[in-house]
Amino acid sequence: MKIIDQIYINGDFVTPHGATTFDLINPTTNQQIGRVTLGDETDVNRAIAAAKAAFTTFSKTTVQQRSNYLQRLHDAMIKRLPDLVEASVIEYGAPRQRALASNQLAADSFLHYKKVLEDFSFTRKAGTSEVVMEPLGVVGIITPWNANASYICNKLATAIAAGCSAVIKPSEMSAIQTQIVTEALHEAQLPPGVFNIVNGPGNVVGSAITLHPDIAKISFTGSTAVGKMIARGAADTMKRVTLELGGKSANIILDDADFHTAIPMAVAACFMNNGQACIAGTRLLVPEARLEEVKALLKTAVANVKTGDPMNETTTIGPLVSRKQYDRVQQYIQLGIDQGAELLTGGVEQPAGLEAGNFVQPTVFTGVTRDMRIASEEIFGPVMSVMTYKTTEEAIDIANDTVYGLMAYISSSNEKKAREIAGKIIAGRVLINTLNHDPLAPFGGFKQSGIGREFGAYGLEEYLEPKTIIL
Ligand code: NAD
Repeated sequence: MKIIDQIYINGDFVTPHGATTFDLINPTTNQQIGRVTLGDETDVNRAIAAAKAAFTTFSKTTVQQRSNYLQRLHDAMIKRLPDLVEASVIEYGAPRQRALASNQLAADSFLHYKKVLEDFSFTRKAGTSEVVMEPLGVVGIITPWNANASYICNKLATAIAAGCSAVIKPSEMSAIQTQIVTEALHEAQLPPGVFNIVNGPGNVVGSAITLHPDIAKISFTGSTAVGKMIARGAADTMKRVTLELGGKSANIILDDADFHTAIPMAVAACFMNNGQACIAGTRLLVPEARLEEVKALLKTAVANVKTGDPMNETTTIGPLVSRKQYDRVQQYIQLGIDQGAELLTGGVEQPAGLEAGNFVQPTVFTGVTRDMRIASEEIFGPVMSVMTYKTTEEAIDIANDTVYGLMAYISSSNEKKAREIAGKIIAGRVLINTLNHDPLAPFGGFKQSGIGREFGAYGLEEYLEPKTIIL
């Protein structure tokens, strides 16, 4: 049993004022593995006061000093990588390989921002004036459970690069991972108060951060529903907001694509991170005339997916994070069946031998139409909806027929054509014949997938305010 009964304020591990506890459950077994004591509004106020005090001097640091801090944060995180991988497997259910990639990315985000600082202009010319890009203040960072360390670290790296201080509220379901991240970041010996980490419930700690007048900006990753609450709450004090929200990304397979590569890639795009990925390509759009071929390839590709104990090196899909998430995904699978979609593979029965955990079968529906809820709502589990199109224009129309706009995928052997289609897709990122991530290029959503961008120089701009000096 891991007992986590401290939060991190002003450079120290301290006992929270809040006394409520939250049980931490291993999703592979549904056994309790820990307990975290949650902070409350008093803890938020203390953390914000520490961050506000630290901002006075941290905002005046040089780029060189902040680059050094970023390097130290990276090095400290790397040292704890094995512990983080272990914790991500037992607390979140991430397959080992995925856990490694995600936590490595977390550590690397500090280096990515060190790189951005190398040629970022904090002083610019506009018209005849000088424009100084100033850190905007104390940033409130609120993150979800599906890649805990990478959200904390990427957002913190951006804040450090900008010269902002931060109060971080991770998901309470990730407390064991957060504890390791906090211990690692503490080792980097930044000035006290520059970052503070308060475990707690969203409606208490998250909400207190959102409403506090001394928070200048919120950087949030999570559901669209909570993103809207944060945007409303932030408006009263005119906080800046970066919101990275949900998605229902389309994956368009063009007739000229190499289907033997594109279909397995589509399965990987949909089932990544146990299907709990905002960027998952959950709507597969295929030419109507090729449906039978696609079905056969999908069956083979899904048969190669290994659902099981995430500790196992060969597992590609682990359990869903919680019983609640499991129930939600099962309900969507039942809904697909009830609304008349055809179950190509998967279904509501639990995978054999894995009944103790939150495992669902990787599920593919064909015959999905736009009016079905599985075609429009974010499921956040390994469930794919296959839809057919007759013309490219129809494919684009289906792809854009969503309130979301985070990501899209295109497979084609004709790059020019794929680029033309990318130009017509309403999404923050379009990946052509790849699943690669670019940590220096902007990431974020059109429409209800969010506001603003993260990563690279575009992400940094969002933690700065331009000040014009006219002489
Ligand atoms: P969530 O919105 O329930 O919670 C996210 C965070 O917000 C948690 O820390 C939670 O405690 C906090 N929170 C909850 N209520 C709050 C409130 N009233 N005020 C302030 N904070 C509050 O999301 P989740 O279930 O943790 O994560 C899954 C969701 O996140 C999915 O919708 C997914 O698409 C989205 N997501 C988006 C991205 C992206 O980059 N666009 C990445 C990962 C996940």
